[in-house]
Amino acid sequence: MTPGEHTRAVHHRTAEPLLQRPLTPPVHRSTTFAFSSAQEMAEVFAGAPGWSYSRTDNPTAVGFARAVADLEGAEAGDAQSSGTAAATAVLLALTEAGSHVVAPREVYGGTWALLVHQLARFGVTTTFADYADPEAVRAALTPRTALVWAEVLSNPTMAVADLPALAVTAHEAGLPLVVDATFASPAMCRPLEHGADLVVHSATKYLGGHSDATGGVVVGGAELVARVRRVRVDTGAALAPDEAALMLRGLHTLPLRVARQCATALEVARALEAHPAVERVDHPGLASHRDHAVAVRLLDEGRYGAVLMVTPRGGREAGLAMVDRLQLVARATSLGGTASKAVHIATTTHRQLSPEARAAGGIGESSVRLSVGLEDPADLVADLVRALDGL
Ligand code: PLP
Repeated sequence: MTPGEHTRAVHHRTAEPLLQRPLTPPVHRSTTFAFSSAQEMAEVFAGAPGWSYSRTDNPTAVGFARAVADLEGAEAGDAQSSGTAAATAVLLALTEAGSHVVAPREVYGGTWALLVHQLARFGVTTTFADYADPEAVRAALTPRTALVWAEVLSNPTMAVADLPALAVTAHEAGLPLVVDATFASPAMCRPLEHGADLVVHSATKYLGGHSDATGGVVVGGAELVARVRRVRVDTGAALAPDEAALMLRGLHTLPLRVARQCATALEVARALEAHPAVERVDHPGLASHRDHAVAVRLLDEGRYGAVLMVTPRGGREAGLAMVDRLQLVARATSLGGTASKAVHIATTTHRQLSPEARAAGGIGESSVRLSVGLEDPADLVADLVRALDGL
């Protein structure tokens, strides 16, 4: 008997199983996978290799995580629905009620909020230490400390973490060093080579690279990553397959994009540092940056980051006016994409801080963060110089 139209609409012939490997990985949108027998299904549910449900493991997301692990020189990786989800999974995996975390004073605002607004409610406390002073990090450790959290490059002043020194401090205390490498990407620095135990990324930035997908990833040793995956499965923060496919495509050009973005950023930084309306430019490629020597030691040659902070003379109004006068650079947050972006820091990303707290972190009331994209350097410099000329 021929099945009815509704049955045929759902169950129909498909293309033959692939004998040739598609060069571009397919996007596996299926949320669930069919087994050939109840026995096979039982085995996969019990942990045998196989696919069962995409919130647990999706082939496109797993492919993306493995690609990042390969770029970072890691044994294993786990894809997450955002960089914040990745940080959440790591912190939940490594802490319990009563645990203590050491993090940098200038840690990314979302990570700060996660620690202070969320984890604190479950009895996890954090000390925010001055990472410019290795002794301050050591002094912050307590018997309850569960991990040391670092960022390769800080937002927005681009402080460079001395990862080998931090790894020694953490490991002497028997603790893992977790590094958020979002601002660096593996095309600038691979923290595992410098002693880190886990690396966290907002893949929304350089890894995806085109400002069209939100995601995150954690890479490191297989045992730690398995613990992180467990939390991701339990909290439901799976990376969607379409996002994973966009991220995978982004990875193909990661070193090309990052090398060019860093070279352009350094050119822009040098041009702006010489402008009379500018008080200060913060970029680790400049000899004037506090952490230039650390940057030369830890970051790949010539790749000192594609974010810079420019502080025009004249206070808050000058910074706002500079951003308003831009014609090519977009007034937009985020970083790592193909299009350059600018934010006035005191009224956007760091608006919750007092002027004194911003000043303590090296951020002026006029400071502007630039994320340098792939445009021609001369066009970017012209746009920024025109914006500064009028101040
Ligand atoms: N870590 C850093 C350093 C970031 O800059 C960001 C986002 O800006 C995140 C983590 C969070 O990433 P997402 O926005 O993908 O959750």
